[in-house]
Amino acid sequence: MFNMRVFRFNLSILFFLLALSGCYKGKSVDLVIHNARIHTMDENDNIAEAMAIKDGIIVETGPERQILNRYSADQEIDAQGKDIYPGFTDAHGHIISLAKKKLGVDLIGTRSYDELLVRLEKYQQKKNSKFIVGRGWDQSLWSSSEMPTNERLNQLFPTIPVCLFRVDGHAVLVNDALLKLAEITPETKIDGGINTVENGTCTGLLVDNAMNTAVAKIPAFSNKEMKKAILEIQNELFQYGITGVHEAGIENEEIYLFKDLVDSKKLKLNVYAMLLPSSKNIAFAKKNGVFQDKNLIIRSFKVFGDGALGSRGAFLKQAYTDMHDHYGMLTTPIDEMKRVAIICERTGYQMNSHAIGDSANRIILDLYKSINEVNKDHRWRIEHAQVIDPKDFVLFSQYGVFPSVQPTHAVSDQRWAEARLGKQRLKGAYAYKSLLAQTGMIAIGTDFPVENIDPFLTIHAAVQRMDRENYPTSGFLFNEAISLNDCIRGMTIWAAFTSFQEHTSGTLEKGKQATFVIFENPVVSTSTYKPNFSFMTYINGEKVYSIE
Ligand SMILES: [Zn+2]
Repeated sequence: MFNMRVFRFNLSILFFLLALSGCYKGKSVDLVIHNARIHTMDENDNIAEAMAIKDGIIVETGPERQILNRYSADQEIDAQGKDIYPGFTDAHGHIISLAKKKLGVDLIGTRSYDELLVRLEKYQQKKNSKFIVGRGWDQSLWSSSEMPTNERLNQLFPTIPVCLFRVDGHAVLVNDALLKLAEITPETKIDGGINTVENGTCTGLLVDNAMNTAVAKIPAFSNKEMKKAILEIQNELFQYGITGVHEAGIENEEIYLFKDLVDSKKLKLNVYAMLLPSSKNIAFAKKNGVFQDKNLIIRSFKVFGDGALGSRGAFLKQAYTDMHDHYGMLTTPIDEMKRVAIICERTGYQMNSHAIGDSANRIILDLYKSINEVNKDHRWRIEHAQVIDPKDFVLFSQYGVFPSVQPTHAVSDQRWAEARLGKQRLKGAYAYKSLLAQTGMIAIGTDFPVENIDPFLTIHAAVQRMDRENYPTSGFLFNEAISLNDCIRGMTIWAAFTSFQEHTSGTLEKGKQATFVIFENPVVSTSTYKPNFSFMTYINGEKVYSIE
């Protein structure tokens, strides 16, 4: 039955609402970005023109008119038609190593042993350091391309200890003063490492675990120096539109370095830190379980399965093509890896294991097998997954293991990868397309400071399979190239998923963090590398970087 009173009442509400909307332009928000190409990276790859943000969270994305009509914002930004993406994540980087590199001698790009010595001399003239640490040499860029020995280093620095890290961080060249300090003699033998000896004397080249005693002698930089360097790195990352890093392996003290910076609100970057399995870090995991302090998340362990291919420490099923009877080695005994896996399973931590060689990859896949039976959503990762026996690809999907790869490694290693592996074995190397086909998701990073932090070099390497000089013109192992969209997924939503953060970040959708980057130039991939930078970078609705 028609009820006149209810009808009048409803009408009055309607008039009231109409009156309200007349003087009130729309829902109030903090920020509206419009005139943009917002790549939401959602399931359907929707592209929006505008986005409304309140309290650091995305309220809505949609067409220009819809968003501008619905919301009144304290601040409006006309994005001038530029591309906007979720903030990029580097799914495997080393902020701490890069900070230390900045505080020591930069040896990246040295073209000869002579140039390396010149850089050390220049550094020492300025700093007069009591202990010299350098990082970044790569003998494959030198004319002889043989591993260096320390004779000339000893002549230049007979008394001050010197420790020079190879670019991959898996070998050091040290002088005799440091060998003496670390009590390393030609007789010193270390499991999972090589103390190189020629004609009865140490050459100063120490690989993988053999580095440990020498590296332990390096005096620590002060917290003040380290924090300053970390904040400089943060700013560099923001310039490239990187808003998150999966920090691949830190010591216990370094947790507190990050935590202090988060608590003092200086570190805005999202840091997903993997712990090295030291006794202190294991105690931390047992005490805290899954740990989050604002933008610092800790819920994973990083374990080293083997070394690197460049320094022939990667553990291969068959001998190295360029070194007779040499297979590389496991750098962590299987029992120790098992022990960490059990701790991870009990504490709810993720296990992220470094594996380069096909043998190391297989061993770790087999180790992970058991966890898949207990917990299907474990999301355990293999960092690098660089050389895979074609028979083993299928195990990634069977055991639910995510590869975490660094496309720039492929184009950096192209100069010597075939020498190490031979043509046949190369077919399962740097095989990102094959890995993606197995798992439907790969996490993508750079392994900085081993490689440059520039995500557009990563895109160029993943999509074109070329280096910065656009070499090789036909692409290195081009059949393993992935699409631009998949590469960006690897740095956004897949990086979020493989770090348990897909509910808060990785796409630009309603209810997620307003963490995004407006790029200066269109984000494309062509056969010529073109640098691109952030125009503006936002984290949780806060502008953390602007080109102007
Ligand atoms: Zn690494």
